[in-house]
Amino acid sequence: MQNPNPHAVLLASPGMGHLIPVVELGKRLATHHGFDVTVFVVAADASITKSSLFKPSQSSPLNLELLPPVDISALVDSTASVVTQLMIMMREALPSLRAAISAMKSRPTALIVDMFGTEALAIAEEFDMLKYVFITSTAWFLAVTVHFPYIDEEAEHKHRIMKRPLDIPGCRSIRHEDTLDLFLDQTNKNLFSGFARVGMEISNADGILVNTWQDLEPLTLCALKDEKSLGRVAKAPVYPVGPLTRPIGQSSKSEVMDWLDMQPTESVIYVSFGSGGTLSAKQTSELAWGLELSQHKFIWVVRPPVDGDASANFFNVTNSHDGTPSYLPNGFYTRIGKRGMVVPMWAPQNEILAHESIGGFFSHCGWNSTLESMVNGVPMVAWPLYAEQQMNAAMLAEELGVAVRPKTQLNAAVIEREEIAGMVRRVMELKGNEMRGKVKELQASAKRVLTQGGSSYNSLARVSKECELKLHRLGAMALG
Ligand code: UDP
Repeated sequence: MQNPNPHAVLLASPGMGHLIPVVELGKRLATHHGFDVTVFVVAADASITKSSLFKPSQSSPLNLELLPPVDISALVDSTASVVTQLMIMMREALPSLRAAISAMKSRPTALIVDMFGTEALAIAEEFDMLKYVFITSTAWFLAVTVHFPYIDEEAEHKHRIMKRPLDIPGCRSIRHEDTLDLFLDQTNKNLFSGFARVGMEISNADGILVNTWQDLEPLTLCALKDEKSLGRVAKAPVYPVGPLTRPIGQSSKSEVMDWLDMQPTESVIYVSFGSGGTLSAKQTSELAWGLELSQHKFIWVVRPPVDGDASANFFNVTNSHDGTPSYLPNGFYTRIGKRGMVVPMWAPQNEILAHESIGGFFSHCGWNSTLESMVNGVPMVAWPLYAEQQMNAAMLAEELGVAVRPKTQLNAAVIEREEIAGMVRRVMELKGNEMRGKVKELQASAKRVLTQGGSSYNSLARVSKECELKLHRLGAMALG
């Protein structure tokens, strides 16, 4: 029997930074646009189901299911980059996705994958579904991804070897110091060909949804639509549908939230490097000293240090922690006293950033964290670690003026405590005021675009309309 509502199947690749925005997109499709929604989750093991996202709730508008976990240990070296591992995991999950769609009682209308799931778009074609890609990053990152397959050897050489900026039609160029990891690793040809494949597959979609909004990236979004510019290679229509961030639920009681309740307005800096970011032992110690030196109040989500692997915790998504961190400098806790809170491994970030006592965010600039900072009007210290985070940091500091960045090149050296303390002070004291004004404007604009009639609301409504038309066509075919 034909389902009266369009049914969207969403596919989330491993990592909380992908799952969180995919779930938010699913919720908006269900609650604002009348979709039935199933989210399939790919993960290395079942520990992801301990996340609060999987907690059964009667009010949840969507069906969240873990596909059978994929073990790639026999296929790839554990030292392979996160991107390589993600691509292989997503490929291994394809048979389970096909089986799950095939077992559905009525045919879903659309498949929406994140950028690591583009190979699954072929499955959408098999089942005559519409196919969309959801970019959980910036339009600027989408721009470099779709442009990537067309970069010729000369341009690549100039950027990669001669360290010149990489030009992208109609957009800001990418300086070498802000470039993607991919261009720094000169040996990994698989990564290069994998990224080129993704760039091509994205442009074969029926539409590209991006977790950004029109007023945040007007130039890039314009270039992506312009047939004489990037639109020629993006091919598919681009829909800015963001900022989709996890809302705060019912306030949960925890030590960290209780402590925040007792602090003055905008007096605390929150320090966290996303779900996977990891610092070296030396850098962890300098950060501890820097926070201490700044004299500001802080909440710091700490992870055991790992030397030489900034994304070491990416696949470790559980909330488990290792007890009281012993790798912090001797006497740190005594000297800090009640001025700071150290939270091992994982904190309720969306609740923390929404708290009025938070005045700054010291962040790795993962795109979800960045959006969470903007929607809460919080200026940042930009401390990018891997993937496209350097590009995000450049945009925040130089284009939007809502963050400060270290002068020291992040991948070159350890950033010393004085520089860290100085950045914290600039955000919390002097420059903080100017940046705070700018980020509050972004906060207001983010709110506007998501309400009915706003640009991001309308973008998703257009996707919804296409899906309804498809549903009717399928219905008419079934009847006739
Ligand atoms: N997050 C969290 N608590 C933590 C660390 C991360 O809730 O201690 C959430 C954060 O709010 C964000 C996501 O995990 O929604 C991380 O995504 P992001 O894109 O910022 O970074 P990634 O982890 O993908 O590098």
